[in-house]
Amino acid sequence: MSQPKYLNELKTSFPSLSENERLARLIAGSFFSSLDPLADEISDIKTALSEAVTNCIVHAYKNHIGRIELTLRILPERNIYIKIKDRGCGIENIGQAMQPLFTTSSDEERAGLGFAVMESFTDEVVVRSKPDRGTTVILKKKLCAKENSNGR
Ligand code: ATP
Ligand code: MG
Repeated sequence: MSQPKYLNELKTSFPSLSENERLARLIAGSFFSSLDPLADEISDIKTALSEAVTNCIVHAYKNHIGRIELTLRILPERNIYIKIKDRGCGIENIGQAMQPLFTTSSDEERAGLGFAVMESFTDEVVVRSKPDRGTTVILKKKLCAKENSNGR
């Protein structure tokens, strides 16, 4: 039997209710706490995850409630992996959607900065999407080595 490429994994899903953005943050904070991350690192991870979950709530399932699937993994060498998947409206032009300040929303609250935030708070953001099929966002980040973690 082949070995899994991850050291630990959590899969869950929840409806696209705005209160579940907080739930996703709490789940990620708890799951990755075994790695004893720096406060800044866990805050960055939660911020990036929040942006992706919010996008599912406000864009993917704009006029209805759908399911958001969340996969969290701890990979070797303190690498973390987060997958946020929806089966909503999808994104027609991913390159354009990821440009800072691009938004399809007329809501004044939306600045078109969600993907830019995800990119600046993680090491890598991968987006796959098909119109009317849904969107998958993968966030990757390598945590600092433990021995460099003075002041934790
Ligand atoms: P902000 O995040 O600053 O509130 P925003 O959500 O519009 O504004 P981004 O998060 O960068 O900005 O997303 C850019 C655009 O990509 C969105 O306006 C939307 O059109 C599209 N988008 C992002 N995520 C999804 C998704 N899961 N499903 C469908 N469309 C999405
Ligand atoms: Mg957004």
